Amino acid sequence: MRVYLDNNATTIVDPQVKLAMEPFFCQMYGNPNSLHDFGSETHPYLKIALEKIYAALNVPKEDSVIVTSCATESNNWVFKSVYFDYILSGRKNHIIVSEVEHPSVIAAAKHLESLGVKVTYLPINSEGIIEANVVKDFITDKTALVSVMWVNNETGAIFPVKEIAALCKEKGALFHTDAVQAIGKLPINVQDFDVDYLTFSAHKFHGPKGVGGLYMKKTKELTPLFHGGSQMGGYRSGTLNVPGIVGMGKAMEQAVDSLDFEIHDVKELRDHLEDELLKIKDTFVVTPRQKRVSNTILISFRGIEGEAMLWDLNRAGIAASTGSACASEDLESNPVMEAIGAAEDLAHTAIRFSLSRYTTREEIEYTIGVVKKAVERLRGISSSYAYTPKSHKSEL
Ligand code: PLP
Repeated sequence: MRVYLDNNATTIVDPQVKLAMEPFFCQMYGNPNSLHDFGSETHPYLKIALEKIYAALNVPKEDSVIVTSCATESNNWVFKSVYFDYILSGRKNHIIVSEVEHPSVIAAAKHLESLGVKVTYLPINSEGIIEANVVKDFITDKTALVSVMWVNNETGAIFPVKEIAALCKEKGALFHTDAVQAIGKLPINVQDFDVDYLTFSAHKFHGPKGVGGLYMKKTKELTPLFHGGSQMGGYRSGTLNVPGIVGMGKAMEQAVDSLDFEIHDVKELRDHLEDELLKIKDTFVVTPRQKRVSNTILISFRGIEGEAMLWDLNRAGIAASTGSACASEDLESNPVMEAIGAAEDLAHTAIRFSLSRYTTREEIEYTIGVVKKAVERLRGISSSYAYTPKSHKSEL
């Protein structure tokens, strides 16, 4: 049996999404900027796709959604252009990010730090959550940008972005949220709070890879990263990825339509998996369920290296993860586990299971059986497990 439980890394493309994209490879393949019919016949489809995205996020007409190649590009755009537009002028010199942002935010922040910008990395609490109050301790009149993700990709923890956005507004700082892991898992309404920029990526909600977006408030327009043609109103030049945009529009619409299913049915399967895994001795989860989105579990099995567990799971056809796919070649400990100050042996034992609306009960039952056997086998050969203290809580 093959079981895919790594949906926070990427998701299967929904068959309806694939169907919607197909005509734009070999039939309507014209460049939308060309003057002939091959180009202009794509326009109505692009318009419909963008309308679906505007509707899904409740973006008002005066604001913009700019299509990019991925969330990494959207995140980098915000940081680099805030530097050009707000920091180089000398008015502001400080940005704030959480210490558990995706590498595309952390690395962009570190790059600005190397250029002389002061950067604050907000700490998470023992449940893996950023508390809005901590922002108050660091935000000043010199803060140009605060960037805090809506949902953490490792734990599924939901961060209080609405409260943080309100604090930013009070201090005159811009607020950006990386909503990559929130789309399709939480209701998103950009008019519901003071967000200036919001990042998303189609392949995380059953759309294609290589297409994402940045929501931008009309009054908070950014200098483009890519200069060139007039595509996307000149904000992001480059020939439009027509199949990608059509696919992302369809996927976004479906993400909204299946939100209830995600919140109830996917959660039920996730909770069942978690309940069964927590019955295994010396096993624990950092973020409480009610503070997480419905599809994610980050769980530690004391005494078992995450990579060893992944190996056993992979041999049994199950895909899970030990951390962000962007960092997983490094064999480092899980960044969230490190950030909460977990002892190193625990930080190395975290495994992430992330479900989707395609996950079945049969797959979950199979996974429970495989994990239980793997824990028994790996603890049986673990030199550290026998010597580790019984109580893990004291070490967290
Ligand atoms: N932000 C978060 C929270 C993510 O989980 C990811 C992907 O893992 C990204 C950004 C990067 O997305 P993309 O692959 O579209 O660049």
